[in-house]
Order: sequence, then structure tokens, then C-alpha cells
Amino acid sequence: INTLLNPIRTLINFTEQFQKGMTGFERFLDILDTEPDIVDKKDSIELKKVKGKITFKNVSFKYDDSRYVLENINLNVNPGETVALVGPSGGGKSTICSLIPRFYEVTQGQILLDDIDIRDIKLRSLRKNIGIVQQDVYLFAGTVMENIRYGKPDATEEEVIEAAKKANAHDFIMELENGYDTYVGERGVKLSGGQKQRISIARVFLKNPPVLILDEATSALDNESEKIVQESLEKLSQNRTTFVIAHRLSTIKNAKTILVLTDEGIAEKGNHQELLNNNGVYARLYNAQFSDVN
Ligand code: ADP
Ligand code: MG
Repeated sequence: INTLLNPIRTLINFTEQFQKGMTGFERFLDILDTEPDIVDKKDSIELKKVKGKITFKNVSFKYDDSRYVLENINLNVNPGETVALVGPSGGGKSTICSLIPRFYEVTQGQILLDDIDIRDIKLRSLRKNIGIVQQDVYLFAGTVMENIRYGKPDATEEEVIEAAKKANAHDFIMELENGYDTYVGERGVKLSGGQKQRISIARVFLKNPPVLILDEATSALDNESEKIVQESLEKLSQNRTTFVIAHRLSTIKNAKTILVLTDEGIAEKGNHQELLNNNGVYARLYNAQFSDVN
């Protein structure tokens, strides 16, 4: 089971177990950054203004000595464009996304951000430019204000509130017992899945990265909170290069590029109409899965 968890979660569980009672995401970040295999190269660079162009060049990847999870992925995503990743569970959608912030190193090929190989960029600098919203939201023990501010540690209160408003989170926060000073996390107030998700979206608004990864961000939500979370995600992805793993047809249909991943590692690529015309995997998935929703 552990191997199925993504590295963030694994690391969070690790910190939870060994640093109980310790708050502060700086500590968490330090641990992320000291993951043994992945370290800054000697002369690695600090990014200045990032546009958000992402390029995959012949990227192949395997987790261990077993089979390749990804083979020969080529992809060019211009700043601000959206790529939707679709395909059956286990097809490699989350894996692709985890290579961009270098949670894992490509086995072959290269990934570039604004034409710079991500292995030449300081990890901290790379990850500062990438926002992630995924199904499981981690709130650490602290106030709502602190949890959102984690997206940008030096943010003012006004900036935090502004971000919460954009994330459709401000109203419910104001209804909590102590507003932004309400204690959340393990021993704090219990928030619903949709509320936690909106806090994590507020973090990303505050961080304001040019590149965004949305990995099944709304999958665990009921219809009503899915709608409100979806709305803020659409706002969030505007003018950002976005990789979205979604089950919503509207999200997929509007994507500039759809990448279809199957567990044989075959990738189909194109926009909605092109892939329907191809009459391949996507067309089959579409007819089986999507035609009766939305
Ligand atoms: P998807 O997101 O499309 O459901 P994943 O990227 O999570 O697919 O998984 C692709 C394949 O890689 C699956 O066969 C999965 O079992 C395997 N896998 C995912 N994470 C790990 C890991 N940390 N270690 C080893 N294998 C993994
Ligand atoms: Mg996944």
C-alpha cells in the first residue's frame, strides 16, 4: 500500500509519526528537500521570471527494476495551456505529474521548464513555481491563517484573505468559531472535504505559481462541494500552465491537449475532436465513461 502513496503523503506520514506535536511546514519542506536521491546539482540555477512552458522530451520512467510506467512521452505545453490526462487507474497519470516537481527523477529523457532542464534548477526554486492540488489535503496543526499562509510564508493577512476569497473559502472561514484564527488540523475543528480542498486552493492562489497540477482534486467530494471547488479551480487555472487529471468531461473537452495513458504505456495525444476522430482509446473511453455524464 505504501508504494501507492505519492511521496508527499509518505513524507507527511513520516513527519506526523516522528515529529508529533511539531508544527511548521518549513520543517516539512526541509524534509522534502533532503529526499536522498534528489538533490541540487553543483551549479544549479535559481529561476527568475517563469513563463511556465513545460516540455517532455522522450521521457521514460520506471519506479524500480520492474516495467516502465511511462515510455517515450513527448509533450510540449505552452505557457497558460491546459493538458488533461485521462485513462484507466494505474495508467501513469499521477506519475507524469510527480515528475514535474521532481518528486522522482526521469529514467530517460528530460523535462524542461522554460527550456531549462529541471535537473539544472534548484529544487526549491523549481517547486516554488509549481502549485499542486490533489485529492488528499493535508492541514497541519495550526490556525486557518497559518495553513493558508504556508503557500507564501511572508504573506500579509490581507493577502491571505484575498486568496481565501478567490478560493471560495472566505465565507465559510468567517462562519467558523474564531474565523481565520480557528485551530484546524489533527486536534482542531473538523472541516469537510470540500472546505479543506478550498483551503488548499487558497494556498495555491497565494503562492501564485505559473505551473499548476490538479490531481483528481474533486474526486472525493459530493456533488455540491464539487461544484464550488470546481469553480475555484477554473479560476485558479486561468493564465497558468495546468496539468489536470479529471473525470469531468467539461474540463477534458476544453483542454488544449488531452493525453491518454493506458497501462500498456501507450499514449494517445490530441484535442477532444481529434481524438474522437482517431476512434482509438479515447473514443472508446469517451463512449463508455463520459457520454452519459455532463
Ligand atoms: P494513475 O494516476 O493513472 O492511476 P499512477 O501514476 O498512480 O497511475 O500509477 C502508474 C503505475 O505506477 C501503477 O502501476 C502503479 O501501481 C505504479 N506506481 C505508482 N506509484 C508508485 C510507487 N511510488 N512505487 C512503485 N510503483 C508505483
Ligand atoms: Mg492517480
